[in-house]
Amino acid sequence: MYENILIPTDGSDTANVAVAHAVDLAATYGARLHALYVVDIDAVNFGLGTEQVDRITQGNFGEMTELQEKADKATGAVAAAAADHDVEVHEEVRVGAPHDVIAGYADSKDIDLVVMGSHGRSGVKRALLGSVTERVLRTTHRPVLVIDERGDD
Ligand code: ATP
Ligand code: MN
Repeated sequence: MYENILIPTDGSDTANVAVAHAVDLAATYGARLHALYVVDIDAVNFGLGTEQVDRITQGNFGEMTELQEKADKATGAVAAAAADHDVEVHEEVRVGAPHDVIAGYADSKDIDLVVMGSHGRSGVKRALLGSVTERVLRTTHRPVLVIDERGDD
């Protein structure tokens, strides 16, 4: 039932707690793990043109080294966590509105389970859920497992 598991990650500690769960599930079910980092088009403080968006999607960041480092660090943490578990990891970086990209990716890759953190980089824990997770839950009809790092001891 679980052949393709998606772990969207912003590289935060909270997301990395979810990564550990996703790796364990993928190992248990023999599933492929998709690590997805979304460059938030609204958060970047300079306008990205269509050409840049296309390039980043193809993994070519050019002079945008800071963005690339963030993306590589986030998806690389998934690959590192999976390394000892004999789990195949596909690292993917895309650009857009994170919840939109995550839900679209889940549909296009026939993802059976999305595993994500309750919160992320912004670190504001007042809200029950971060806005990306809340929007993914509202957008997709696929199973989503939300990991609250505060319950992880
Ligand atoms: P907010 O962004 O609403 O201020 P937050 O940063 O605490 O709050 P979210 O952004 O919703 O919370 O993060 C929750 C989870 O969503 C993360 O743990 C991660 O799994 C996923 N996520 C968030 N941003 C991205 C992103 N840019 N790319 C991929 N996954 C993301
Ligand atoms: Mn966030």
